[in-house]
Amino acid sequence: MTPELTATLKTVFGHAALRGSQEPVLDRVMAGENTLAVMPTGAGKSLCYQLPAVAIAGTVIVISPLIALMHDQLRGAEAVGIRAATLTSADNNRAETVERFRAGALDLLYVAPERATMAGFTDLLSATPIALFAIDEAHCVSEWGHDFRPDYRGLRPLLDRFGDVPRLALTATADTRTRADIAHQLGIPDDGIIVAGFDRPNIRYAIAPRDGLARQLGALVAEQSGAGIVYAPTRAATERIAARLAKLPAMKGREARAYHAGLPPEVRAKNQADFVASEDMVMVATIAFGMGIDKPDVRFVAHAGLPKSIEAYYQETGRAGRDGDPALAQMFWGAEDFSLARQRLAEVPEERRAGERERLNALAGVVETTACRRAAVLRHFDEDPPAKCGNCDNCIDPPKGIDATVIARKLLSAVYRTGQSFGIGHVEAVLAGKTNDKVTARGHDSLSVFGIAEPDELKLLRPAMRALTARDALRQTEHGGMMLGPAARPILRGEEDVTVIEPPAKRSGRRDRAGS
Ligand code: ADP
Ligand code: ZN
Repeated sequence: MTPELTATLKTVFGHAALRGSQEPVLDRVMAGENTLAVMPTGAGKSLCYQLPAVAIAGTVIVISPLIALMHDQLRGAEAVGIRAATLTSADNNRAETVERFRAGALDLLYVAPERATMAGFTDLLSATPIALFAIDEAHCVSEWGHDFRPDYRGLRPLLDRFGDVPRLALTATADTRTRADIAHQLGIPDDGIIVAGFDRPNIRYAIAPRDGLARQLGALVAEQSGAGIVYAPTRAATERIAARLAKLPAMKGREARAYHAGLPPEVRAKNQADFVASEDMVMVATIAFGMGIDKPDVRFVAHAGLPKSIEAYYQETGRAGRDGDPALAQMFWGAEDFSLARQRLAEVPEERRAGERERLNALAGVVETTACRRAAVLRHFDEDPPAKCGNCDNCIDPPKGIDATVIARKLLSAVYRTGQSFGIGHVEAVLAGKTNDKVTARGHDSLSVFGIAEPDELKLLRPAMRALTARDALRQTEHGGMMLGPAARPILRGEEDVTVIEPPAKRSGRRDRAGS
């Protein structure tokens, strides 16, 4: 970052410094190198082409798949004084935009891929110097991505036609395979792929058993000012919880509204618009709410019940604190959420069931861990985070756990001795010294681990399994079996202890049903 660029960042955008991977991305862009930036929602992708739009002579062409998204971006850019325009079928001022572009009076021009790939557009681009091609939602170019758009494939000839103009592809969602494919499709070198961490350091994660939901939400809103979202499991629950919340003195006149797909469209639209404009509204919603809503100052996201998976949890909590200021993600769960989710597994087609079960176990690991929540989530995304974040409930106020080191070691040994392919039920039988057909048929009754666990220890077996899964000492295989993970060794060697929180049945006490 040059001093000039830092000054522009401050005067035009009002930001004191770059955040996270904005810096390495901008370094490449400013050096004219082709780049793929994989950055989570809220990481500040727009700045990676808006800053060059202001700093580099010529126009930045942004290719974006959705007209509504483009118009949002346009408003944002114009608000900070960037000379920008969109060129879409929904714009009546296209002739004027083309004139401004030809005159070199645009810093930014947003176009849809289908327009960008038309012959006339190539001619138009030849009329004025181009500073950069920014390809937003770049995963659309890959068939591996979750939203393939054939039009994105047509971009390559255009990019190559202007081969000396640098390209910047941006996406929030791409696994390793999709990343490599995007880079390949768009002519970006492998070393031009910059993957931002998934970490959202300003979000404080907290997870607690549900124990009087109204009281718990009351405490939350009393402590947490600003706008917030409460995710409820059913439509009926959104309305019930919103009505309860509205009556709570802790709300101090803040509004609580409900949002779900069963409401009339005009009510939905109004509730959403009012929420975006509001500074302190609490929206009680099903997960249908949130996608595509641009509200950077959501101060909290609460889950009134268990989310579907860690991916869903990450995405839903990620709607908090997109402005980078402190925000809270609070989950309230009940043991019955887990039993319900496990019952639903039976309805999942057989070929997907093992995978879904694994997802649920992974989520249980995050819910039940006494260790850092953030570390558990990030490890799920293949990151290698520090053991403690200092900004989650468990780091701030370490829970009182039960030492489960002995049973954890016995479990790991039994998984190993039985060949790392059996599920918890079989391993439990072996550890408990129960003979059944499967145990005897495999000769597992003659293993050294057969019958080595005491009944008291066995009560901690499943919590231990989840805790071990959470820290990657144990991995659930696709076929419902277990195998040792990289973190198993220090535990087996006696170098690390395993602590679990009390089993949920004892802990959750008086329960409050969030669902219906
Ligand atoms: P993304 O597109 O990656 O989801 P945005 O570009 O919408 O993220 O940015 C999210 C929010 O972060 C916006 O409110 C933006 O103003 C803010 N932001 C971006 N970069 C910075 C920065 N360097 N410092 C502070 N805030 C920033
Ligand atoms: Zn932590």
